[in-house]
Amino acid sequence: MSLNASAQLISDLVSANHILANEGVFDGFGHVSVRHDKNPDRFLIARSMAPSMITEEDIVECDFEGQVHDAQGRKSYLERFIHSAIFKARPDVMSVIHSHSPAIIPFGVTGARLRPICHMSGFLGSTTPVFEIRDAVGESSDMLIRNQSLGESLAKTLGGNAVALLRGHGNVVVGDSVKQAVFRAIYTEGNARLQAQSMLMGEPVYLSEDEARNSAETNAGQIDRPWELWKRKLAHVPR
Ligand code: MN
Repeated sequence: MSLNASAQLISDLVSANHILANEGVFDGFGHVSVRHDKNPDRFLIARSMAPSMITEEDIVECDFEGQVHDAQGRKSYLERFIHSAIFKARPDVMSVIHSHSPAIIPFGVTGARLRPICHMSGFLGSTTPVFEIRDAVGESSDMLIRNQSLGESLAKTLGGNAVALLRGHGNVVVGDSVKQAVFRAIYTEGNARLQAQSMLMGEPVYLSEDEARNSAETNAGQIDRPWELWKRKLAHVPR
């Protein structure tokens, strides 16, 4: 491995890929990245392949313009610009996840706002913005964030939030560590399922802004517990 990043960081990044696939956030698609811990101008992400098959040898370095730097000349994802533009815009962000996690899709296309329905998803706060790609490139795109300029438009929509939806496509989730981003991605999907169920039954009571902020703060100290469980569950998955 020629990457100059810490072994723990790379190992967590690989685990994150497997966990997100195992927990139903990723399928054959989706990607997770982490800011490089030795080179502040780079981040780490896998080469273009299915998340559950990724090993430490598949991790490559990328800069904040989306240029891949790999001694073997390997390519990363078409949508790596989601990551490059967000790392560039948000110095507080250490990890970025993009997925097509299914339950959130209806919230991007109906005008129903995704809001925190339960204390585990207080990190959603009062606003989960929706990125409308037509505002940037009109109605004829292939829906993908395939260049830095689209990445920057998305980063602008995300603003200071933890999550943004991409209309008709998926979502992006950020965190101050790989573990926190994984936690948020899994509970964003869960929140969408619970909210859709609740909306069928009646008018949901959402967390207030204070309840959302305070529960997010409490949960931020508990991230290791589910992370260890999600990792343990991987041991039973044949790959
Ligand atoms: Mn995508």
